[in-house]
Amino acid sequence: MAGALLFSSRLDDPVAWSKALAALMPDLDIRVSPNLGDPAEIETALVWKPPPGEMAALPNLKLIINLGAGVDPLLADPTIPPHIPVARLGDQPMAQMMSQFVTFAVLRHHRDIAMYQRQQRARQWRYELPRPSYECQVGIMGLGLLGGTAARTLAGLGFNVAGWARSPHTIDGVECFHGAPGLAPFLARTDILVVLLPLTKETRHIVGRDALYCLPRGAKLVNCGRGGTVDEAALLAALEDGHIAEATLDVFEQEPLPPDHPFWGMEQVLVLPHTGSIAIPEISARDVVDNIRRVRAGQPLLNVVDRVKGY
Ligand code: NDP
Repeated sequence: MAGALLFSSRLDDPVAWSKALAALMPDLDIRVSPNLGDPAEIETALVWKPPPGEMAALPNLKLIINLGAGVDPLLADPTIPPHIPVARLGDQPMAQMMSQFVTFAVLRHHRDIAMYQRQQRARQWRYELPRPSYECQVGIMGLGLLGGTAARTLAGLGFNVAGWARSPHTIDGVECFHGAPGLAPFLARTDILVVLLPLTKETRHIVGRDALYCLPRGAKLVNCGRGGTVDEAALLAALEDGHIAEATLDVFEQEPLPPDHPFWGMEQVLVLPHTGSIAIPEISARDVVDNIRRVRAGQPLLNVVDRVKGY
């Protein structure tokens, strides 16, 4: 008998996911945590922050699929068995949704919309000559599925785009930097910095005081990767002294952002509740089912996470 799938998330909708999976694989036996049935029958787990120990209690588990692109919470759980492959969700519609979100944030900064909102409150009609997009230097940290797609989209809109990643990349119309030696020159040429990095041991607080002050004075920041990649205390200080002029923050070191956090009250900061991109069950279920078939056929898996690198 083919193995069962365990759905374990307190955030995602089990009904929508079960329906989407059943439409593609009608004979899939879907169990919703905490109703595991016989744990020995579970072959695949589709999870977002499963309860500690739940995965370790599945003796015949062959694959864990993270319900999202960011695997930092899953890999931080020491009870996840080290020998089970971990895959993540990551499809073009997710990348497109993030790319649209980044485009909104970059255009809002580029076209000084926050300034016009201040003017509106003062009933002030004052026109600033817009700068052409080719004069605006956007820098994207992280050139994976999401960052790479956003870089191509912004380059297509005529922005002067550069990207930075761990390894060398080649993207048409995008100047690519990589590694520690590439970081300072990448930051020095960037007017609007977009952070789309995963949170790993290496990327925690990578955008700290040093990185922020490598950016030219008046630079703007968009973070829609993970809150922990930016040192929020350093960002707060840089916003207060005007070195960073504005920020759009979709992710935070602590989520939900605590009610007394200074970001809430800062006119130059747009606070968003981690809404950049989501997986749509009807679409993302295709890769989940594909991976189940691959496990059964002993074929290479899609979107596998490198547990050493942490993404
Ligand atoms: P990928 O794994 O596809 O890409 C990660 C990118 O980051 C790669 O280009 C990688 O470099 C780069 N990178 C990783 N570590 C380093 C490092 N130490 N130094 C330099 N570059 C590094 O991830 P995605 O693009 O799919 O997603 C990025 C993140 O976005 C996710 O991890 C998640 O946390 C976040 N996210 C946020 C959402 C939201 O709603 N706000 C929604 C979905 C995801 P290389 O290419 O060389 O390996």
